Amino acid sequence: MSLIDAQLKAILVCPCPHHADLDEDEAASQLVCTHCHLGFEVRDGIPIMMLEESVVSDAYQPEKCGAADAVPTVANGETSS
Ligand SMILES: [Zn+2]
Ligand SMILES: [Zn+2]
Repeated sequence: MSLIDAQLKAILVCPCPHHADLDEDEAASQLVCTHCHLGFEVRDGIPIMMLEESVVSDAYQPEKCGAADAVPTVANGETSS
Protein backbone atom coordinates (compact mmCIF):
# COMPACT_ATOMS: atom_id res chain seq x y z
CA MET A 1 0.00 0.00 0.00
CA SER A 2 1.36 3.34 -0.97
CA LEU A 3 0.07 6.85 -1.16
CA ILE A 4 0.80 7.41 -4.80
CA ASP A 5 1.72 5.50 -7.92
CA ALA A 6 5.33 4.32 -7.82
CA GLN A 7 6.05 5.69 -11.27
CA LEU A 8 4.65 9.06 -10.27
CA LYS A 9 6.74 9.07 -7.11
CA ALA A 10 9.83 8.25 -9.16
CA ILE A 11 9.59 11.48 -11.14
CA LEU A 12 8.55 13.75 -8.29
CA VAL A 13 11.12 15.86 -6.54
CA CYS A 14 10.97 18.50 -3.86
CA PRO A 15 10.70 22.10 -5.10
CA CYS A 16 13.64 22.94 -2.87
CA PRO A 17 16.88 23.91 -4.62
CA HIS A 18 18.22 20.36 -4.33
CA HIS A 19 15.21 18.75 -5.97
CA ALA A 20 15.63 15.87 -3.60
CA ASP A 21 13.67 12.64 -3.66
CA LEU A 22 10.55 12.30 -1.58
CA ASP A 23 9.69 9.76 1.07
CA GLU A 24 6.16 8.61 1.70
CA ASP A 25 4.73 9.24 5.15
CA GLU A 26 1.65 7.09 4.96
CA ALA A 27 0.52 7.89 8.49
CA ALA A 28 0.39 11.57 7.65
CA SER A 29 -0.66 11.11 4.00
CA GLN A 30 2.28 13.20 2.95
CA LEU A 31 5.34 13.07 0.79
CA VAL A 32 8.35 14.33 2.71
CA CYS A 33 11.53 15.67 1.16
CA THR A 34 14.53 13.51 2.01
CA HIS A 35 16.65 16.64 2.13
CA CYS A 36 14.80 19.46 3.82
CA HIS A 37 11.91 17.40 5.27
CA LEU A 38 9.29 19.68 3.83
CA GLY A 39 5.98 17.85 3.59
CA PHE A 40 3.46 17.72 0.78
CA GLU A 41 -0.05 16.55 1.36
CA VAL A 42 -1.43 13.76 -0.81
CA ARG A 43 -5.10 14.10 -1.65
CA ASP A 44 -6.80 11.20 -3.41
CA GLY A 45 -3.47 9.98 -4.71
CA ILE A 46 -2.45 13.40 -5.98
CA PRO A 47 0.50 15.00 -4.23
CA ILE A 48 0.12 18.75 -3.81
CA MET A 49 3.59 19.84 -4.90
CA MET A 50 3.26 23.52 -4.22
CA LEU A 51 5.30 25.46 -1.71
CA GLU A 52 2.20 27.47 -0.85
CA GLU A 53 0.47 24.26 0.26
CA SER A 54 3.46 22.53 1.78
CA VAL A 55 3.48 21.24 5.32
CA VAL A 56 6.11 22.70 7.58
CA SER A 57 6.77 20.16 10.31
CA ASP A 58 9.14 20.21 13.23
CA ALA A 59 11.56 18.24 11.06
CA TYR A 60 11.65 20.90 8.36
CA GLN A 61 15.19 22.16 7.88
CA PRO A 62 15.20 25.06 5.43
CA GLU A 63 18.75 25.94 6.46
CA LYS A 64 19.94 22.72 4.83
CA CYS A 65 18.86 24.12 1.51
CA GLY A 66 20.50 27.47 2.05
CA ALA A 67 17.46 29.16 0.55
CA ALA A 68 15.12 29.82 3.39
CA ASP A 69 13.58 32.69 1.50
CA ALA A 70 12.46 30.36 -1.26
CA VAL A 71 10.21 28.34 0.98
CA PRO A 72 7.68 29.24 3.64
CA THR A 73 9.30 29.74 6.98
CA VAL A 74 7.92 29.95 10.46
CA ALA A 75 8.74 33.28 11.98
CA ASN A 76 10.06 32.62 15.43
CA GLY A 77 12.51 35.46 15.85
CA GLU A 78 15.22 33.05 16.93
CA THR A 79 18.12 31.38 15.22
CA SER A 80 19.63 28.24 16.65
CA SER A 81 23.09 28.71 15.18
ZN1 LIG B 1 13.43 19.65 -0.12
ZN1 LIG C 1 17.05 21.04 -0.25
